[in-house]
Amino acid sequence: MQGRSSVEMCVREGYRAIALEDLNVKGMMSNSRLAPHIADAGIGGLLQKIRYKAGETGLKIIEIPRFYASSKTCPDCGEKNEIGSRERWTCSSCGVRHDRDQAAARNIKDAAWGMLLVVEAPSSSEEAQKNLDELGAKDVERLVRERKRLGGSQAH
Ligand SMILES: [Zn+2]
Repeated sequence: MQGRSSVEMCVREGYRAIALEDLNVKGMMSNSRLAPHIADAGIGGLLQKIRYKAGETGLKIIEIPRFYASSKTCPDCGEKNEIGSRERWTCSSCGVRHDRDQAAARNIKDAAWGMLLVVEAPSSSEEAQKNLDELGAKDVERLVRERKRLGGSQAH
């Protein structure tokens, strides 16, 4: 994925926001198993490009707080599981089997929708940005639970 062209595609398709997980790139680089993959992907530079391009086009960037447990929270029932480093895991509460990356993607989408509603609620965009910056992992968990209660996720 190229930062610029993917942002342009989002604008063309009428998307309002891009959700990024605030990945701890430095922490991952210190992990010898992950470091080569992170370096290959050039993730730090890619995120910078996406932020820059989004600023130019007015697309909102929703940054999911780093401590939100996106890969171990069950996207079906909201239960937070202990999964260690497993790629696939079964929810201890509802018994559904998940792939950690797919679970993370679904949770990030739900989290971003919840956060977008917070951003769009206040009258001034300055106030909206302040609200967004103040959201922590616990707030995001609450927003995702509320979304699950309301049922279903919207198209995009
Ligand atoms: Zn579950």
